[in-house]
Amino acid sequence: MREEKGEMSYRDPEIVKKMTRLVAEGAVMLAEMCPLDGLPLFKLKSGEVVCPSHGKVHIVKSEEEAVEVEVEYLLRDILRAAVRRAKEAVEEEDAEEALRWLSVAEAAGRIRARQEKGEEKAREGTKQS
Ligand SMILES: [Zn+2]
Repeated sequence: MREEKGEMSYRDPEIVKKMTRLVAEGAVMLAEMCPLDGLPLFKLKSGEVVCPSHGKVHIVKSEEEAVEVEVEYLLRDILRAAVRRAKEAVEEEDAEEALRWLSVAEAAGRIRARQEKGEEKAREGTKQS
């Protein structure tokens, strides 16, 4: 089991490999850390900031934003799990169970869409350059 929360670290050979590759590609290690696992973030030549374990992330400036990012990941996990469960239920011809999971997926998707809309609005409000 390598899915345990908070177990992602420098000692994980996969993570070390990814960090090494990022550096080899010219990415710069930042002082900021991933809000989810505390790994150092890397700035790519393209200017994008990525976490070696999560891929692309935004730099988190505030506690509030950290929560938002966490919710986003949580919703994505819920969505993924619900779709998987729904599929399993369909295979077992358990329509009731499938619908239950689909409604979970739908709710998660709806919250996510609403969040994205909110983010767009926030970006418009603080247009830079
Ligand atoms: Zn991360």
